[in-house]
Order: sequence, then structure tokens, then C-alpha cells
Amino acid sequence: MIIAVDGPAASGKGTIARALARHYGLPHLDTGLLYRAVAATVLRSDGDPASEADAVRACGFDDAVLADAWLRTDEVGKAASVVSAHPPVRAALLARQKTFAHQPGGAVLDGRDIGTVIAPEAEVKLFVKATPTIRAQRRHLELRKAGLNPSLDKVLADIRARDERDSKRSDAPMRQADDAVALDTSFLSIDAAVQRAIALVEERRLAPQG
Ligand code: C5P
Repeated sequence: MIIAVDGPAASGKGTIARALARHYGLPHLDTGLLYRAVAATVLRSDGDPASEADAVRACGFDDAVLADAWLRTDEVGKAASVVSAHPPVRAALLARQKTFAHQPGGAVLDGRDIGTVIAPEAEVKLFVKATPTIRAQRRHLELRKAGLNPSLDKVLADIRARDERDSKRSDAPMRQADDAVALDTSFLSIDAAVQRAIALVEERRLAPQG
């Protein structure tokens, strides 16, 4: 079974995807991390994320970089959303994601275009969302826990800018697949969101296909 989990930043999609993978005993791929690895490689070599040539060169990144905690920062996330808009970058990362999705037994993948481009044939597609304000509050809390103190307004502006870039790009924009189920986590605790996601997967699994 392939489970595709898409949605914007700080919607809870990563947490939900990891919980589903644990629940069903499936391997999980956080595809955002691949774009973050490209972005981090560009930044480390003093390149420009907006330059297609710099970004394409970085697609051959060393897999060791995937374990680097710096990849999880907002600085790299922002650059990731810039490099991910270059079509050749998306093309360079496509085969790796498709192979992961189609491994025997299935897999859970989370990202922006899993249900639309990477695995349109996924048995279950979830589109996880939450209001921009609530996502900004979550991200703000995380940043404060990490010892940073940006204003909530700045975090909200960054979230909106990232949504705009990810949903307006021409190649594989973030959008809910026609056959995806929406899961709004705005007013759900993590536990409640995970339980709801499992219930949705079960409904889909048991529903007659057609
Ligand atoms: O999910 P995460 O915040 O780690 O993703 C970082 C960036 O990578 C996103 O803002 C998006 O631009 C890009 N991305 C993408 N397609 C995916 C996953 C992530 O374009 N499947």
C-alpha cells in the first residue's frame, strides 16, 4: 500500500506520515528533506538557490548531508522552496522518490506533490492542512523552544511566502489531488490528528476501488 501525505509547511503532515508508517510497519520518506539537501548543498558552496545551474549541480549531494540537523532550519527550508521551483531539480529527484514509493510492500511518503506527481496511483492520499495563523503559531513555538525568538508576524509572513511559492510554481505545484481526502489539523491535538489519519486510511483501504 502506498500512502501519499501532502500539505503545506507546519500542517502536521510529517508527524502524521511518520505515525502512519509506524502504525502500518511501512518505510517512510520525508521528500522535503531531499529538496532541503539540495538547498543546503547550494548554500554551503556559496551558490544562489535562485540559480538553476547552481541548484542542478547540487542535486548530486552526498547522502550523508541528509542527517545534518541544519537541514531542518527555516533558513534551509526557505532556500528549499526556491530550488524546488526549478523543473530540472524536480526531474533529478523524481526517480529516487518513485523507486521508494514502489518498493515491495509499499511506503509512506510526505511532501507537496506525492499524490499528484510522484505516486498518482497511491491507494491512499491525504492532504493535511491547517490555517496559516495556526501553522505560524506552531512554528513560532518550535523556534522558541530552539532558543530563537522571531516575531510571530515574521513567522506568519514566511509561511505565507512559502505557501505562495509552493502553490504558484509551474512544475508540480502544491495542490490537493482530486482523489485525496483533506485532513484539517487546525483544532486537533497531535494524537487526535494521528487517530483521524488512521481512520481515513482504514476507510480508504476498505472502500471498494473504482
Ligand atoms: O516539507 P518541507 O518543509 O521540508 O519542504 C521544504 C520545501 O521543499 C517545500 O517548501 C517545497 O518547496 C519543497 N518540496 C517540494 N516537493 C516535495 C517536498 C518538498 O517541492 N514533495
